[in-house]
Amino acid sequence: MSTTLFADANSDYNKARYVICGVPFDGTSSFRLGSRLAPQEMRVSSYNFETYSNFFDIDLTDVQIHDAGDLEVAVTIDETLELISVHAEKYVRDGKIPIMLGGEHSLTFPFVNACKTKYPDIGFVVLDAHMDMREEYGGEKNSHACISRHIIEDVTNKYASVGIRSGNREEYEYVRENNIKVFSAEDVISKGIKSVIEDIQKDIRGPIYLSVDMDAVDPAYAPALGTPEPYGITPRDVREVILCLAPQIVGFDLVEIAPEYDSGGTALLGAKLVRDFLAASARSQ
Ligand code: MN
Ligand code: MN
Repeated sequence: MSTTLFADANSDYNKARYVICGVPFDGTSSFRLGSRLAPQEMRVSSYNFETYSNFFDIDLTDVQIHDAGDLEVAVTIDETLELISVHAEKYVRDGKIPIMLGGEHSLTFPFVNACKTKYPDIGFVVLDAHMDMREEYGGEKNSHACISRHIIEDVTNKYASVGIRSGNREEYEYVRENNIKVFSAEDVISKGIKSVIEDIQKDIRGPIYLSVDMDAVDPAYAPALGTPEPYGITPRDVREVILCLAPQIVGFDLVEIAPEYDSGGTALLGAKLVRDFLAASARSQ
């Protein structure tokens, strides 16, 4: 099977600063399946755009980007996490900035963990509609509904989430009791995204892993999602987070698009945000 490579990912692995990889896995998705198809849809959509971004004043043909294709996945999430952690660790060890295209949100864990080995003071910033603070979901600890809890407990407590508007009572209590930095979508509306970002940067001054769960974005802009949640943030809010945090970002992912649920707009936005991350990061070098 021939894989379309992400547009402008023309560098070989050794020369690359950025390594894109897809992880076509959606085994623990709780509502709609299909995020396994998102890496390829985003790659195809990436050819819609000019190589030059006037907003960032960067031409992506001048940036060293490698697309490693889709990583091998297994039937179960546990085996899949084991398989992909080998690649995540290699990319980070080789001095690359990994860009993981999911797939579901649980796939974030091995990539953050890999960054932690190189950057012990790593911070984790996540854009999401959902808390993802459950200890387990449907008997599965490595469910996409638990990823934030896992990262706080096992990787780093330098944590902030933005766009939150969904969780059960226990998740909200856990966040309150442990003083975890959670900015709701309403906070973004009332304070403005810039002030939210400044607040995050007061706490997290060092390296950051940025995880974009696409459902942070309002389903009016991004309807093709595993678990869509109304009253979200806008694509411009996400771009602003990417722009402001880019100088600190050492790992990036974009997850949870289920491309079958629209006519291509959500994957297109996903591809654009990946390109914006590449441009913002390259400009900050
Ligand atoms: Mn999530
Ligand atoms: Mn979510």
